[in-house]
Amino acid sequence: MVPRVVFGRGSFNQLSEIITPKRLNPDAPFIFLVDDVFKNNTWITTRIPLSYDDKIIYISANEEPKTSQVDDLVEDIILTTKERPSGIVGIGGGTLLDLAKAVSIMLTNEGETKDYQGWDLVKNPAIYHVGIPTISGTGAEVSRTTVLTGPTRKLGINSDFTPFDQVILDSELTKDVPNHQWFYTGMDCFIHCAESLNGTYLNTFSETYGNMAYDLCKEIFLDNTLSEVESQEKLMMASWHGGMSIAYSQVGVAHAMSYGLSYLLGIKHGIGNCIVFDHLEEFYPKEVALFKAMKTKNNIVLPQGICSNLSDEDFDIMIGVALGLEPLWDNALGNNWKKLMTAKKLKELYKKM
Ligand code: NAD
Ligand code: ZN
Repeated sequence: MVPRVVFGRGSFNQLSEIITPKRLNPDAPFIFLVDDVFKNNTWITTRIPLSYDDKIIYISANEEPKTSQVDDLVEDIILTTKERPSGIVGIGGGTLLDLAKAVSIMLTNEGETKDYQGWDLVKNPAIYHVGIPTISGTGAEVSRTTVLTGPTRKLGINSDFTPFDQVILDSELTKDVPNHQWFYTGMDCFIHCAESLNGTYLNTFSETYGNMAYDLCKEIFLDNTLSEVESQEKLMMASWHGGMSIAYSQVGVAHAMSYGLSYLLGIKHGIGNCIVFDHLEEFYPKEVALFKAMKTKNNIVLPQGICSNLSDEDFDIMIGVALGLEPLWDNALGNNWKKLMTAKKLKELYKKM
């Protein structure tokens, strides 16, 4: 679990006060990994507290994080700092938060990032890392994974050293998220709940968090009675609770299939999950019906026919990635899943998308 969390509109202003005691010495800087969408946004950048050799590295979130990108960032940080940094601060959405987690792990663990994709392979504690989400839904701010695309697969570094040491939840930072992106990333949270609550791994711990996040999503995306500020505050908490729910269970069919789309076609997590979930009524009937209602309510039109020109080899690659995520299928369909979900069946589903 994340041991320290601050919640409140404007709490981003407390960043300096929070990290200053964690500075090891003047030669050990803080490195801020910041979404480059904020590059000329003085409302945010002037509040990033830089002293000594601290630096900001702006990173585009147009593509999801890669293991090679983490290796490059770590090498750059090692070469340009006098000492191992005091900490890494990630400011952005799931993409930047995952990069911050991964970089903080790889600064203290030898070798290449790709070798740590999997479960509990990290040997040494990461350096101090802080997460500051600027868009809500993924739960990356609370989870014990950092999802990375490597040379052969898209898979997280799941470990006890992955969670942030500190998170700052300031919903005001999400105020300029474009509408469609607000929906896609918000639906990631809704889909986490659907997959967790309908999974075989469910226990009461996951269920209580999942139910809270589920109800918040309905309030935000369906009921339409909230002010913008209330929506921003509530989606930030929904994201957190949804993340807590899957931390103690697992995701399911939508995530397994969306990882395939992402690996082959580079389709991003939020929109990819939406494209997939739209066709999963067989597995999540009640939630898919709700999802369709939310889509209408929020004037969202999803891309169609994204798999219409793919070759058999392409389908095989996506199916390989999806079926490789065994714990997700096990959670979604039970230990008999290999009989229920075949390559043929997956191909039929992908062809609808
Ligand atoms: P993102 O970080 O990819 O950002 C989506 C878009 O929103 C980008 O264009 C970004 O620049 C923009 N954006 C972010 N904040 C903004 C703001 N305040 N104003 C304007 N624009 C803003 O989006 P995401 O959906 O949060 O993250 C997706 C990533 O999260 C994927 O890489 C996925 O694998 C990962 N993920 C991780 C976990 C986990 O537990 N670690 C869980 C789910 C998803
Ligand atoms: Zn997700």
